[in-house]
Amino acid sequence: MTPSIVSEETRERDKIARLSRSLYERGLSAGSSGNISVRLSDSDGWLLTPTNSCLGELDPARISKLDWQGKVLAGDPPSKEAFLHRSLYEARPKAGAIVHLHSTHAAAVSCLRGLDPADCVPPLTPYFVMKIGRLPLVPYHRPGDPALGEAIRGLAGRHSAVLLANHGPVVSGSNLEGAIYAAEELEETARIFLLLRGAPVNSLTAAQIEELKLVFKLDL
Ligand code: ZN
Repeated sequence: MTPSIVSEETRERDKIARLSRSLYERGLSAGSSGNISVRLSDSDGWLLTPTNSCLGELDPARISKLDWQGKVLAGDPPSKEAFLHRSLYEARPKAGAIVHLHSTHAAAVSCLRGLDPADCVPPLTPYFVMKIGRLPLVPYHRPGDPALGEAIRGLAGRHSAVLLANHGPVVSGSNLEGAIYAAEELEETARIFLLLRGAPVNSLTAAQIEELKLVFKLDL
């Protein structure tokens, strides 16, 4: 029997739908919030979840395909937050996938006063340091404001993830699984951060972070 050849695009469409449903079922993307994209390596384009779509109910064939000018090549109209993804891909040529969520704990942290805009979640665990590193806060912009894309572009060259004030995280990875695992690590660390508010806390020291960078070859 001849093995069936499945194209990268078909494979990635199926994977986006499968992993998005998992995020939805575990409460990481309520309603029609959140959007996910994947850069295609074998063609000049990328896939993005459609506008007003629920991550729990995606039809792989209807996921939007766009070119790098933002033109829709196939599928339903893309998320209105497409420009967030484009800005981050432009600043990070090695990023293969991006996950943007309004996940509860990370969104809650994004509303706190007094965050360090250069590093808004402390290094509480080595796993956060390894998957996210330093997390900058992007100032509040109204939904759809093109200035938000510019603000992300300015930070994303140095950071794989950013937190949008009063909104939520945008996390990149070399592939979709990597971006999702990092977004989940960020959500869990935000939850730990909120649980510990007001308690005396030991964050990782500069020396402990240096050791992680050295042993795990982190590019932070
Ligand atoms: Zn959003």
